[in-house]
Amino acid sequence: MPKSLLRCQECNRLLLLGPHNQAPAYRLRAGEPEPLEIRRDDEADFRAAHAKHCLDELRVVEGSVVSEGWWADPMRVSYFEATDGRETVVVRRHRTQLDRPVNYEVIPGAIEVRAVSVDVQSRDLARQLEAELGSDLAPPLVRRFVDAVQEFAGSLEPEDLEEICIDPRDPLVSYARLDEKHVIAILDLLRPDVPAETLRRLNRFVVENSEGDDVMNLMIRKAFTIRESQSA
Ligand SMILES: [Zn+2]
Repeated sequence: MPKSLLRCQECNRLLLLGPHNQAPAYRLRAGEPEPLEIRRDDEADFRAAHAKHCLDELRVVEGSVVSEGWWADPMRVSYFEATDGRETVVVRRHRTQLDRPVNYEVIPGAIEVRAVSVDVQSRDLARQLEAELGSDLAPPLVRRFVDAVQEFAGSLEPEDLEEICIDPRDPLVSYARLDEKHVIAILDLLRPDVPAETLRRLNRFVVENSEGDDVMNLMIRKAFTIRESQSA
């Protein structure tokens, strides 16, 4: 279900809507074994605080979240798009302190995401090949296979690749599969030096390691900028 935010247009304050706004807080008291439950209703508080202001609701645009830094860092700043159905705005999400609630604010501009690199997971690919086919494939052939994948990857533009999954820990990293014609071309390069049975096993290796972030898949790294809006 898409998330929504309640916005005060006058104060540029936003509240993420959801049951978490009613989750009680607990406070420990000296000498008392049980913590004190404090009832909360952040949505009611928000509406009361902005009672005389113009409020509207924004829906978070799915898949629009971008952020930099370590995915689990609670202090990291992220951006996403939200819309009221007519206009789409950029929302900045950040925290000023660890023990303070998350802040949301609308900032001017638009999020621009572009691919900056396409990489082969070379080290993991070589390791996996050695583990699965090491008895059939001598180390120089493992290297040639990895080099061939790298060569094809280097000739591809990010736009030519179909992303099949986004890294759940980093929305700026995604994975794409090599085309079947590239796989055939890579196997053809090794054909003169590899017995037919090994080639079949290599082909199976490719098929079995091409899901999600599997070692055969290419890693696309992206970067984002907030483009300033051109006001008329
Ligand atoms: Zn307000």
